[in-house]
Amino acid sequence: MNPLRSLILAAAGNEVIRQVVSATPGSRDLVRRFVAGETGDDAVAAVRELAASGLHATLDHLGEDVHGRAHAEKNVQANLRMLDRLHSEGLSGRVEVSVKLSSLGLRLGEKLALDNAWRVCAAAEQCATTVTLDMEDHTTTDATLRVLAELRHTWPSTGGVLQAYLRRTEDDAAALAAEGARVRLCKGAYAEPVNVAFDHAHAVDRSYVRCANTLLAGRGYPMFATHDPRLVEIVGERARWYGREPGSYEFQMLYGIRPEEQLRLATNGETVRIYVPYGDQWYGYLMRRLAERPANTAFFLRALASR
Ligand code: FAD
Repeated sequence: MNPLRSLILAAAGNEVIRQVVSATPGSRDLVRRFVAGETGDDAVAAVRELAASGLHATLDHLGEDVHGRAHAEKNVQANLRMLDRLHSEGLSGRVEVSVKLSSLGLRLGEKLALDNAWRVCAAAEQCATTVTLDMEDHTTTDATLRVLAELRHTWPSTGGVLQAYLRRTEDDAAALAAEGARVRLCKGAYAEPVNVAFDHAHAVDRSYVRCANTLLAGRGYPMFATHDPRLVEIVGERARWYGREPGSYEFQMLYGIRPEEQLRLATNGETVRIYVPYGDQWYGYLMRRLAERPANTAFFLRALASR
């Protein structure tokens, strides 16, 4: 992995650097590019704007790695409030929620995370929408897939995420390509050791295409999360080759990244869902976005140099 990328991802878990970056003039401007805002109102406004352009959304109440049950409960409540609101404002047909199990207490115990995710899924069903469990670093993959399997017994449409950079993912894709399964395929955003993850971009891209083929050949509903123009084109071709109609799979992109491409795909009849993060716990999310694109890192280096 590119050393600068590793450095930024390592900084994503560092409290001192978090404080430096949060206090750096200009950080708010950068945050606004990738995050809809700090409040539920900001998130709903962003969703309305996307919906007006024919785009779908998945809302992420930012927060990860909670350190106590009370904090996990706060995150559950934020999701429940948002689901209620989406329903009462008639938006739940176009919007679902994405949750990170670490924000629901995974590091405090798998049972706690399952119970909390259960409550979010139950509320989503009441509000006629769905939940997707984001995937975090590889130390959480098994637990996240176990929780997903449990949730799917009751809510089969609960979505999962697979990361093409993990060497295990082809097998996971084969296991998940079942009837009705909603599976988001992304490259993967965390710093991972080479024994579990491919180190070179080409190897990750090749894995992405192999996993995309597996998901498209299966009977589930694949969700292709990428901004990579080559992968978007290949997935589109492969979808046609497998006889997939638009609406039997979707593309997903992040809020603020390649917005013209989001609109182009939607205009061409594709289902396009935008991942919309909101809330004040934006630091970890922002660092992963900085790490993905070298041009974004000038800001980060300025922040470090100013200390
Ligand atoms: P890249 O090769 O990184 O990017 C291709 C092109 O896209 C770049 O050349 C650039 O033009 C543009 N681009 C990409 N990223 C940026 C950026 N940050 N700023 C500006 N331009 C950019 N990862 C997880 O590990 N777990 C998840 O649950 C998860 N969920 C995701 C959900 C969605 C909807 C999306 C789109 C991504 C998600 N990711 C997740 C992140 C993903 O793993 C990648 O880190 C991220 O999408 C960048 O990879 P890429 O496929 O866009 O390709």
